Amino acid sequence: LPRETYRFGLGAFTYICIVDGTLEVEAGQLFANAPKEALTRAYREHNIQRGEAVFPIICLLVNTGLHCMLLDTGCGSGAGPAVGRLLQNLRAEGIDPRDIDSVILSHGHWDHAGGNIDEEGRPTFPNARYVMWKEEWDRLASDSELGQPDDPEAARTRQEIIALQDRMDLVEREGEILPGVEAIPAPGHTVGHMALMLSSERRKLLCIGDAAAHPIHLGQPDWHMAFDVAPEEALRSRRRLLARAVAEDALVFEPHFPFPGVGRVTDEGGYWQWQPVG
Ligand SMILES: [Zn+2]
Repeated sequence: LPRETYRFGLGAFTYICIVDGTLEVEAGQLFANAPKEALTRAYREHNIQRGEAVFPIICLLVNTGLHCMLLDTGCGSGAGPAVGRLLQNLRAEGIDPRDIDSVILSHGHWDHAGGNIDEEGRPTFPNARYVMWKEEWDRLASDSELGQPDDPEAARTRQEIIALQDRMDLVEREGEILPGVEAIPAPGHTVGHMALMLSSERRKLLCIGDAAAHPIHLGQPDWHMAFDVAPEEALRSRRRLLARAVAEDALVFEPHFPFPGVGRVTDEGGYWQWQPVG
């Protein structure tokens, strides 16, 4: 079986990348505005067959010494056979859901925030405070959004997030939310999409969320996804984050890149390259 967890350390922080499952999407959805020839070439270079992109959903457990923190909760156990393995993979690493004191949601999409409520309807991480960007919460909680016809997974995820209201801390400005954990607004994929910079002893990990979803987005930083709600803004957020990773010599974590989703980005002058680690 392929590995589903990957441990590493940076400074005094320890990290575990944990697979929740895999998604298959029509690759064209990831590169909505790509010119056809360049796209065909990119598919060939990245071995994308029949226009189908298969990618992992990876959550990140961070032990800072002070906090046991989880970034994103995957799809949840009821979302289909290919996903929902976060809890079993956590337990296999000796982590009990009750150990986690902070759950950070990068954004409200069901493949990142779908695992917040268990099959009995209780919070999956009963001792955790939840954190998300305020605009994302406002979007999910607004009546207009709830009234939208939508796919059932998105609707379920939204209702489950709203049910966590009493445990939810909303971030309104860039800055430290826990010691060594900085919230960074990265709007565009969704209105309240959030990145994180984790630092310990000057060793940094920048979690860029869905500011990019495939390594092709680094080589072609102007190609946006069909699901980006504000494409121009999404591309600005992507460029700002990648430039910051290079400037601060940070490793990067991206939850859909090939497992474990950790690597370095190099500045190639107008575009970036992905150097995976692990
Ligand atoms: Zn995603």
